[in-house]
Amino acid sequence: MSQSVSTSSFILHPSSLPFLPGSIIGVLGSGQLGRMFAMAARRMGYVVHTFSPETDTPTGQVADVEVTASYDDLDAVREFARQVQVVTFEFENIPATTVEAVNELVPVRPGGFVLHTTQHRVREKTFLTRAGIPVTPYAHVRTLEELRAAADSLGCPTVLKTAGFGYDGKGQRIIKSPAEAEAAFASLGGQEAILEAFVDFEREVSIVAARGADGQTVNYGVVENIHERHILNCTLAPADVSCEVQREAIEIAETLLRALDVVGVLCVEFFLTRDGKLYVNELAPRPHNSGHFTIDACVTSQFEQQLRAVCGLPLGPTEQLRPAAMANLLGDLWQQGNPDWRAACSVPNVKLHLYGKRAARPGRKMGHLTALAPTTEEARQLVYAARAALTKRR
Ligand code: AMP
Repeated sequence: MSQSVSTSSFILHPSSLPFLPGSIIGVLGSGQLGRMFAMAARRMGYVVHTFSPETDTPTGQVADVEVTASYDDLDAVREFARQVQVVTFEFENIPATTVEAVNELVPVRPGGFVLHTTQHRVREKTFLTRAGIPVTPYAHVRTLEELRAAADSLGCPTVLKTAGFGYDGKGQRIIKSPAEAEAAFASLGGQEAILEAFVDFEREVSIVAARGADGQTVNYGVVENIHERHILNCTLAPADVSCEVQREAIEIAETLLRALDVVGVLCVEFFLTRDGKLYVNELAPRPHNSGHFTIDACVTSQFEQQLRAVCGLPLGPTEQLRPAAMANLLGDLWQQGNPDWRAACSVPNVKLHLYGKRAARPGRKMGHLTALAPTTEEARQLVYAARAALTKRR
């Protein structure tokens, strides 16, 4: 285990709710979500410790303390927990034993039940179905025989997804005909999986919502997400959807916040069909890429909201001040050399966010741009122009 400590001084508080500015918050995970959380927390006078197997991480670069150890090193996990007053996480694939070890010493928010449910696609889909929430038709697949039977009953095309540890299309294969089933299963290592009917959706939308320690809920409204190669490319906020879709999405998010007893932020991703029906695709019990626009466009960002919820403070207003569009900056933009930051920054009303990652691999999320404008369409044009300007001079 290694630890690097920045120079800020620690102010200790008794570990009772609410955790006020000056308290020490632990973050499990160390990517860009933890980084933006840490920036919100430090702005409000909190001390942040982060724990992950890596060093010089996006979160570690802005945290007060960066602890580097394996999630399976429970002695290191306990030592980390002893140094903080409350713990949250920035990605949901933290092993359950790690969370349990922390929870014996300090509160973890959101709790272990949310993590347990959302880090496994079969558990998540079963939970959603039992809660009466519409999901795409799916089947649990453990063997090739089960996969063949499921492909027959769902009808191709279908999408095979590993049950655990998948994100941004990783661990997924589209099966266009039953003949492709065997190769698809083998390419995912024959792992436990779900097979989903392929949804011919009109659009993908999501909603970021939050629940406080006192049960209060808030949401940021429905946003539209445009994906490329299964990775989020652009978010338009607000989405141009009917009042019924807006109302149903909010109702589903609030139902889930309560049913999962979330204290923190929850993102619900949906497929919206041509006849206006919403199907939940995925849940993320944390700030989400589709909520990054809230940093520049809303009174309270999703990261500050997570902080407020986790610390037992009142939740902040979610009001959006201007229409916005967010575009991800993937490592592909670096392949011919450094992007032209000057050109992108010369586009008015566009804000640059970079995550401090050293290696720019294709498909890796390196940063994002957010544009603000009188309409979402104008914001989309601005943010695309700024992103195109990054590589224009080559
Ligand atoms: P996921 O990791 O499940 O969020 O999937 C990543 C992306 O793959 C989604 O945002 C969709 O664009 C696409 N996708 C996943 N599942 C399906 C499905 N059942 N039907 C159509 N597209 C899908």
